Amino acid sequence: STVTETLGFQTEVKQLLQLMIHSLYSNKEIFLRELISNASDAADKLRFEAIAKPELYETDPELRIRIALDKDARTVTISDNGIGMSRDEAIEHLGTIAKSGTRAFFDQLTGDDKQDANLIGQFGVGFYSAFIVADKVVVESRRAGLPEGEGVRWASKGQGEFSVSAVSKPARGTEIVLHLKAGDDDFLDDWRVKGVVRKYSDHISIPIEMKKGNGYGENGEVVVSNEFEAVNQASALWTRSKGEISDEQYTEFYKHVAHDFTEPLAWSHARVEGRQEYTELLYLPSRAPFDLYERERKQGVKLYVRRVFIMEDTEKLMPHYLRFVRGVIDSNDLPLNVSREILQESRDIDTIRAGCVKKVLGLLEDLSAKQADKYATFWREFGQVLKEGVGEDFSNKERIAKLLRFSTTASDEQAVSLADYVGRMKDGQDKVYYITADTLAAAKHSPHLEVFRKKGIEVLLLTDRVDEWLAAHLTEFDAKPLVSVAKGELDLGKLEDEADKAAQQQAEEAARPVIAKLKDVLGDKVAEVRATTRLTDSPACLVSPEHGMSSHLERLLKSAGQ
Ligand code: ADP
Ligand code: MG
Repeated sequence: STVTETLGFQTEVKQLLQLMIHSLYSNKEIFLRELISNASDAADKLRFEAIAKPELYETDPELRIRIALDKDARTVTISDNGIGMSRDEAIEHLGTIAKSGTRAFFDQLTGDDKQDANLIGQFGVGFYSAFIVADKVVVESRRAGLPEGEGVRWASKGQGEFSVSAVSKPARGTEIVLHLKAGDDDFLDDWRVKGVVRKYSDHISIPIEMKKGNGYGENGEVVVSNEFEAVNQASALWTRSKGEISDEQYTEFYKHVAHDFTEPLAWSHARVEGRQEYTELLYLPSRAPFDLYERERKQGVKLYVRRVFIMEDTEKLMPHYLRFVRGVIDSNDLPLNVSREILQESRDIDTIRAGCVKKVLGLLEDLSAKQADKYATFWREFGQVLKEGVGEDFSNKERIAKLLRFSTTASDEQAVSLADYVGRMKDGQDKVYYITADTLAAAKHSPHLEVFRKKGIEVLLLTDRVDEWLAAHLTEFDAKPLVSVAKGELDLGKLEDEADKAAQQQAEEAARPVIAKLKDVLGDKVAEVRATTRLTDSPACLVSPEHGMSSHLERLLKSAGQ
């Protein structure tokens, strides 16, 4: 039919468009990266669906992306022969934002262009970045497998609404026509656009084609022929050898796979041989994504089998406590038709996963040993997540424990490793002492620390939400038990000298009448009342039973309604 339907953008899209146009004008060229990235994803999706249905290739099996510039019409056209979109998919994908963490993102916006530009960089702009340079965008698409007549035409000026209508589209895939805004004519320049493509998209594994240069015109401009040629190397980046890949290429590839705008912090790239043969290229982001704590998050590590994209999975390829890792794993041995169900059962994937976990931990160890600044950044962004690993990954518990960093009575910053702590232990000290609290200030001012301060013994200050869980699972380090200073009868072992013991006895004697009175008054509210020498400034403190819940955990559970 020729009926055109006009629909409104989701409110968040309108906000995003506004924000983008205002805050990204200084980095306009990224629209090319985003649209090429989408075209490449569309090729991956087609390849995957075609494993089961080869007829989806129709008569056009060579996947590619094309960019055409039209100086007269002032348009840039990006087309691909990937999976394409049906009408419903176009409405859904080009009219809403499906990302998890969207709410959190919009909640953080301040209205200040500079700050928001920074945030939007982390959030990612995707398809809508077309409107940075275009005042009109027309998308024509046909999903692979649908008849020619079931193409869709989507058009918008990037304000409140878009239109959709049916079109006939003989070629499968998606074509996006950008009508450039006045002043953005540099994107009609062949040389300029080729430069941008090389800069951002050289890692894309299928050819990105543009018309071949054919000498220069009167004004020194490039004259193009009608023949297309690839502008990029067109081989999957991870299949190249390390020596051939520049840091810039690794970085751009990261931005593509991770859908992130910020630079990665570090990466590990290796070809692994043995029981399973695979290549891994895994990245640590430099910033936590908005959805790090969302259950529904979809992003993770991508699984390829012999260069064919199979799936993106958040659990089967990386354990939960390494959910911030991004990148690809490309297996030589898994079957191409591997499904999610097969993966659930697969011992092979377990082997690959275990190998990749070791690589990531190795990368972290390397950073912590050689690049303290980067490790500090990592710890700030992801340390709390890594702590989950102590209870989650029994086989790597010790390696993870070594990577932990803490605030202590000697350092407000979470910068002290357990090895540092042990190295500074007092003569005769055989335990690692810690205290849990809601905040650093509460921890530091706890009366439980008085005796430790007096004796100059360092105490770990555990104040993150996950720390109770950590303390429950990390019961010793380097054969030294971790002991809460707020639990049970404080046993300072050899740190206690004869004078302390005598003082304790004396205190008990002296306090006997007071204690009897207190027990009387407090009755069932307490299990016991004891005299102590662990306090130097405070008259009294609450102590949890040795094997009971800590008072901090009790408060956490109460606030969670338990
Ligand atoms: P993201 O790539 O992070 O999913 P985008 O805003 O870049 O977000 O794209 C939104 C969605 O639009 C994509 O997930 C995809 O479903 C669809 N899409 C965009 N471009 C294409 C394309 N060239 N071919 C097929 N689908 C596309
Ligand atoms: Mg995208």
